[in-house]
Amino acid sequence: MPLSEFQLIARYFGALPAAGPAEGVVLGIGDDAAILRVPSGEDLLVSIDTLVAGVHFPPSLSPRAIGHRALAVNLSDLAAMGARPLWFTLAITLPEADPRWLADFAEGLGELASRAGIALVGGDTTRGPLSVTIQVHGAAAPGAALRRDGARPGDELWVTGRPGLAALGLRLLQSGAEAEDPACAAFLWPEPRIAFGLALLGLASAAIDVSDGLLADAGHIAERSGCGIEIDAALLPLEAGLASLPRDEALELCLGGGDDYELCFTAPPSAAADISAAAGRLGLPCRRIGRVHAGEGIRCPGFSPAHAGFQHFGANTDA
Ligand code: ADP
Ligand code: MG
Repeated sequence: MPLSEFQLIARYFGALPAAGPAEGVVLGIGDDAAILRVPSGEDLLVSIDTLVAGVHFPPSLSPRAIGHRALAVNLSDLAAMGARPLWFTLAITLPEADPRWLADFAEGLGELASRAGIALVGGDTTRGPLSVTIQVHGAAAPGAALRRDGARPGDELWVTGRPGLAALGLRLLQSGAEAEDPACAAFLWPEPRIAFGLALLGLASAAIDVSDGLLADAGHIAERSGCGIEIDAALLPLEAGLASLPRDEALELCLGGGDDYELCFTAPPSAAADISAAAGRLGLPCRRIGRVHAGEGIRCPGFSPAHAGFQHFGANTDA
């Protein structure tokens, strides 16, 4: 007997592991709407992202990795705003109700949800080509959230992690590499930088998560802030798997590759020591890679814009 929509929801999404009693959930899954109590006096931050099979992830991706990814890309948006994750909803379109697939998907989703302390409070389930939409809700002190428009001339530009590694990982996976390879793992299991985003409150002047490539995403900060940004190619973290590539190729991946979900942010030089200390406490690599100046646009001298059109699976999408 195929599972009914209700059985399916109850079995796989009704019992996701929770990190503890979910904050502010007056009524969760099961009614016509969830009832949520917004933390008193705080700003509510809301973001939504859809992943379509074959567009935002390879159709061959495991259900566990799809569950992880769908939530990770959304949590990464909250991280970039310095928001504390609270609740999420899940709208899923499935070609069929395959119990094995659903169990693995729910495991990937639930593992990250429980680590991030975010509660699933509702959603929608429909039949059709595979697509997963998650909307996340988070909280921040009034006016404190990090935005893209706060960079000022004289600020420094920073990035966490190893941008480009995920794009390299995808390339390796498509040529049959092992999922355990660190670059492949960076693509398969992006880690939203939630704790570090929170640590940047009061330190960073602007922030964004790197989903479409470092150059493009830092460019969004420049545009929204009405400033120019110059990246120093010599300061880029071309390490880990990227170190084994010819320098031009490593640069292309680092500046143009997507799917990293690292944080790129600006901060006044006076915040540098506190930023390094916060990153150190979290064991997160974090590097100054450039400067904000009066002017406009994003530049990385020595990196030819002809290379910036680097394409990979998932590039130039809104994931
Ligand atoms: P309605 O028809 O009133 O919209 P649904 O049958 O769509 O109700 O959903 C019933 C309950 O199950 C609701 O509380 C809804 O939020 C929840 N729900 C449905 N699909 C999902 C899902 N994929 N994940 C989490 N909760 C879900
Ligand atoms: Mg519904």
